[in-house]
Order: sequence, then structure tokens, then C-alpha cells
Amino acid sequence: MNSQRRCLSAAILVASASCADGQAASLEGPRPPASFEICRSDLAVEARARGIGQALVAQQLESLTPDPEVLEAARNQSEFVKPIWIYLGAVVTEARIAEGQRKLAEWAQTLGEIERAFGIDRHILVAIWGVESTYGTVLEDATIVRPVIRSLATLACGDLSRAGYWRDELMAALQIVERADAPAGALAGGLTGSWAGAMGHTQFMPTTYQAQAVDFDGDGRRDIWRSVPDALASTASYLKASGWRRGEGWGYEVTLPDGFDYGLADETTERSVVEWQQRGVRPARPGPLVDEGMRATLVLPAGARGPAFLLFPNFRIILRYNTALAYALTVAHLSDRLRGEPDFVRDWPRGDRLLTPAESRDLQTLLTERGFPAGAVDGKIGPKTRASVRAYQVSVGLVPDGYAEAGLLERIRGDR
Ligand code: CA
Repeated sequence: MNSQRRCLSAAILVASASCADGQAASLEGPRPPASFEICRSDLAVEARARGIGQALVAQQLESLTPDPEVLEAARNQSEFVKPIWIYLGAVVTEARIAEGQRKLAEWAQTLGEIERAFGIDRHILVAIWGVESTYGTVLEDATIVRPVIRSLATLACGDLSRAGYWRDELMAALQIVERADAPAGALAGGLTGSWAGAMGHTQFMPTTYQAQAVDFDGDGRRDIWRSVPDALASTASYLKASGWRRGEGWGYEVTLPDGFDYGLADETTERSVVEWQQRGVRPARPGPLVDEGMRATLVLPAGARGPAFLLFPNFRIILRYNTALAYALTVAHLSDRLRGEPDFVRDWPRGDRLLTPAESRDLQTLLTERGFPAGAVDGKIGPKTRASVRAYQVSVGLVPDGYAEAGLLERIRGDR
């Protein structure tokens, strides 16, 4: 499964935060209409070559026009990076927690059956449902939901940096229509989804729908648009196929001792829970008992002044659903809140300002000039840039948490 497949799709709810960690698409702007027509013809040829019938290709593609709002949405997503606490705060609201708890009660029997069939914790499933579509509410919002085939054709012809990805999704969408795989109601007005082509209650891309959607209510159709059992079981099916470990959690918030070596929180080093404990890493609150041999990484999404987390392998499975740390932590935290657990113990450094892409490029250039190679100057703060930031921080006696924000850039600009 394409690990980036969800990157643009979760924007159905929060338009820009989910691609914060270097996953944003770069856009070269919409093509003029004449060029779209040529591209559309190419897509029709490819669809025919992939075995999709002439009648369907003609019906779906022949008079299609690009959707300018789709390109605008994609462009906005690539330009803005929201702090993780803004994303979390916008999604994990009291209203969404309360509604999720009502859904847990309403669908308790179905969720029990899904847990038994796929081994996925019901709170995680309902959290994904809540984050992706506000429990299906957005599917009734005509300003958000739009024709999938038009959106994907627009992106395949307009987002040149990821044209191949969008083309594959478009071909899958055409196959879904041709096989009448989706229920007639979902097809009556064409397949519907987000501007990025993500469909149904838990926002499946067409290729994921083909591979992982299941019919759980037994009516013979995989109806992720109107059947809650089908949508939640399809999500469980996808998480299971991605490697979810039955009975294990996602991780928990921890506290770190004074004098802790932040170089250990490098997002790649796995240690067992007991090894972390030996270094003074403690649960921030009495939590569920975990196997002390379980492997975990220590992650500080907002540096040493924000909350710290031990993350278990299942957290990486949530990241398979959407590669953004902000997204996965939001799902994880909402699942805890649905279970009745409180907010994080430690607050976020809410006064911090994150870097714009231009400032990030500047930071990468300066770090490399100072002898701390930061990788490609691409304006995306990824693992390589964070490692470079750590090395710089060590060299000037700062806490080496690898966290890049405006204050750090000011500091390094002043180091002449
Ligand atoms: Ca069904």
C-alpha cells in the first residue's frame, strides 16, 4: 500500500495540517483548458488499455472539465504548516469526544464483532471515523463532497509532481464504477469523495477500497458510503493488513528526568519499555500495564518544552493510514479520550511559531553552511534536518531536541 496515499485525503476535515512532515505535494499550477483536454484524452486511452470499457470511458471522461477548487485545495495544503497543537485542538474537541462516545454505545455490538474478526481496538476505529469524516457528518456536506472521478482527473492533469499516483487512483475509481462494486446509491451521481478522492465514512482512496474494503453487513455490497458496519470493518481490515498487533496500544505520554539526554529521542532508536525506564522515562500518569519488553521509540513532537511520548509499533500502523505525525497522534489521543482518559499532562509550547517553507529552506542552508549537513534544501523538516538541528544544538550547548521553530532559526542566523 502506498504509504503516502492518505496524505492529501484527510484534508476533508482540516485543510492543511496533515502533511506537515515533509509529505506535501508541490504543484506546478493548473494547466490551461486545451492542455486538460489533451491530458483527458490520454487518460481515456490509458483507461481503455487497462481494460475499462469504451462506453464507460466515454460516459465518465469525454465531457469532463477540471475542478478549479480541487487544485486550489491541493495548493493550499502544500503551503501551510499548522502546529500540531492547533491540529489536535481543532479535532479533539469536547463535541467530537461526546459524539464518539455515543457512537461507541450505538454501534457496540457491531464494534465487538469487528474486534473479534480483525483484532482492532474499537476506540481506534471510532477515532479514525471521527477524524476522517466527523462520524460521517461531512458526507452530507455538499460543499465538501464532490465527484471522485472529476477530482482525480483534475489532479492527474494538474498536480504534475504526483500525476502517476492520481492516475492510478483514477483508474481504480473507473474500475469501481464499471464493476458496479459500490452500491447503486453511491454511484447514482457518480462516486463521491473528498477533493483528493478519498471516499466514505473513513475516507478510503479507490485503490485501498479495491484492496481492503469488506462487506460486513452481509448485503453483498462494500458500502463504505452508507453502511457504518462496512466502513468500520473496512478500516479494521486495512489496519490488520498493515500489521496491527492485536491487544497492543499505540503508546503513552511520558515524563523525562532532569538532565535527560535528548539525543536519545531521535525518532528512530527503539528500546524496550524497561530500557527506557532505566533511563528515567516514566508514564506521565498511571496507565495500562504494558509488556516491559515491548519496543518503543521516544518522540517529542514539539521539542523538549512539549509533551513526550513512547510510541509502540501500532502507532506506525496509524501512520500507514496517514503519514503525518499530527494525524496519527490525533487519532491516538482521540481514542484515549473516547475511553475516558484525560488530556495530556504536559501542555504544548503554544507561543512557538513554526517555520514557513521558505524559512525552513533558509535553516537548511545555514545548517549545512555551519557544517551540519541538513540534506536537500527542500523546505521540509524531515529526519535528516532534525538530525542536523540536533548536531547544531549540541555544538552550541542547547538542548538537542531536534525541534526547529522560529527561535532556533533566529539563533542560528545570529551565529556569525
Ligand atoms: Ca454491505
